[in-house]
This record gives sequence, C-alpha cells and structure tokens, in this order.
Amino acid sequence: LRKKKVNPQELVEQIIKGNKTALSRAITLVESLQIKHQDDVNAIIEGCLPYANKSIRIGITGVPGVGKSTFIEAFGNYLISLGKKVAVLAVDPSSSVSHGSILGDKTRMEELVKQENAFIRPTPSGDSLGGVAQKTRESIILCEAAGFDTILIETVGVGQSETMVHSMTDFFLLLKLAGAGDELQGIKRGIMEMADAIVINKSDGENKKPAEQAKSEFRKALHLYPETESGWKPKVKLASALHQQGIEEIWEMIVTYEKMVKENQFFQHKRQEQNKFWLLQTINDRLKANFYQQEEIKIQLKQQLKAIENNETTPFVAANFLLNLAKDL
Ligand code: GDP
Repeated sequence: LRKKKVNPQELVEQIIKGNKTALSRAITLVESLQIKHQDDVNAIIEGCLPYANKSIRIGITGVPGVGKSTFIEAFGNYLISLGKKVAVLAVDPSSSVSHGSILGDKTRMEELVKQENAFIRPTPSGDSLGGVAQKTRESIILCEAAGFDTILIETVGVGQSETMVHSMTDFFLLLKLAGAGDELQGIKRGIMEMADAIVINKSDGENKKPAEQAKSEFRKALHLYPETESGWKPKVKLASALHQQGIEEIWEMIVTYEKMVKENQFFQHKRQEQNKFWLLQTINDRLKANFYQQEEIKIQLKQQLKAIENNETTPFVAANFLLNLAKDL
C-alpha cells in the first residue's frame, strides 16, 4: 500500500468539515518526531488556527484507579446527549514506560468511543513530558477546528503533568476518593491551588458517608486558600461515575464558571497568559533540543562530565565552556 503524500491544505479543508479520519492523520503528523514533517505540521496548524479557540477546555486529573476513564465515559456521553462534540486527549509522561495503558485507553470508554460526536485520542508515547504537552496543545487546536466544542484533557498526577494540563485548560477538575481520616494527606503540593473543583468520586454504596465527610473537609480546606484571580471559589462535588450520578451538576457548575469568567474577562486573560507561557516553553524546548543534538556538544559534554568526575573542573566552568562552544558552532 502506497502512502499518500500529505497535502496540508487538503487536510485542513477536511478537518474543518469535521472529518475525523483527517483529524487523526493530522494529529499523527503532529506527534511525529520527524523533522521532515515539521513544515507540513506548521502549515496544518496555521490553517486550523482561525477555526480554533471556540471551545471549553477541561482538565481532569487524579491518581490511577480514582475513576478518570469511567468519569470521562459518563461525562462525555452526557455532553453528547446535550448536543456537544467531545474530544478526549491525554497528557501522560509515563505512557512511554507503561505503553499507553493508563490514559486515553479507548477500550475503557466503550460507549463514548462509538459516538459519532466523540473523538478519543490515546497519549503519544515515547516522549518527554514537555514533548507530550506540546503535542497535546497542538492537537487541541486541530480538534477545535474540527468542530469539537468540549475538550477533555486527562492526566495522571505524575511529576509536572498536572501543571502542564493546567496551563492548557480553562477549568481544572481534580478527582478524589474518600479515604479514612485526613483527606488532605497525600495531596500533592500546589494541586489544591490549581483545582477549580474537587470531585469526590465513587460516592455510592458504603462510600456515601465517607464521601460526605471528605466533602466537608475539602470545603473547609479550600476556604483557607486566598481568593483566586478569577473570582471563582473552587467547589467540592460528589459523584458516582459508575452510576452516572452527579454528572449533570458538575457540568452545570462548569457552565456557571464559563459564564462568570467570560463576563469578567478572566477567560480571555487566562488564555492569553497560557499562550505567552507556551511561547516561552517552546523556545526553551527548542533551544535545549538544538543544544544537546549537536554532535560536537555530545562529545564535549561527555568529556566535561568525565572531567567533573576527576575533579579537573567545576560545573560552572564546564557549563560556560559548553555554552560558549555552542555559540561558535
Ligand atoms: P482511572 O485509572 O482513574 O481511569 O480509573 P477507572 O475509570 O479505570 O476506574 C477504576 C475502577 O474504579 C474501575 O473498576 C471502575 O469500575 C471503578 N469505578 C470508577 N468510578 C466508580 C464509581 O463512581 N463508583 C464505583 N463504585 N466504582 C467506580
């Protein structure tokens, strides 16, 4: 089978028509690590940009087993019943190790994946977090151009992945389980500040009571945080993703949020700040990649590392030497 050569313009036209096969192909190109695709990728993204941005981007995080897939399945199907078009993307730096088994796994969203108005894309694997995040961000633009108006971005709380997802979404939802005793223990530093809502999942059966307790504990804790820039007070909700309970209320909360932050301009402001962040992030990533990919740097870096081992130089002298060397290359 001969692979058809990519015609970026044609692909853009198909994406704008909502063609999911074209969207998939474009995302595959975005995910490609090959330099030779870079011009095509840029052309496709540029072509899609005027049609992007008209969506709400929702980040969903929580530890493995909390019910992210089950929640997205229930939430996504509910949104589709409202006439929405839902795209699910993932940022998962661990997938290169676990072979993409954690997130965006189609088989775990059985109903949603069959829906005409859903698009589910597993995580790109074999990449650094920075790389995965960059690709996800570009994929968001393509999905929006294809008419997806609700973008769900799933992540598992590994390393900086939550911060990355927070930096590309409008609303950030933290899924939690009710535990025994101190609910705030084991919650990662900084994550509470990022959350626009905490959803205590598996609030069903015997779990109902502990879930209620957890809810009030989280509420109290959130009160202690300073007021957010958006003016929004983070909410705590209960849900049973498995029994599709609490789903409607969560969506209504997001609608309320969207209305409020569009009125007070925070929505636009946040997206602008995110764009600035991504500009700088891209420059940093490229500078770094350009630096480390140079053959001469690779050779000299090895030697400098050796020299450090032998106490023949200091880290700062070595770094200066290498950076100056790169300037002249
Ligand atoms: P993920 O790893 O965060 O994506 O979690 P999954 O969605 O795969 O769910 C992990 C397990 O929890 C599965 O066996 C689900 O059936 C179960 N589960 C998810 N949501 C609920 C819920 O609301 N109630 C109950 N009782 N079980 C749930």
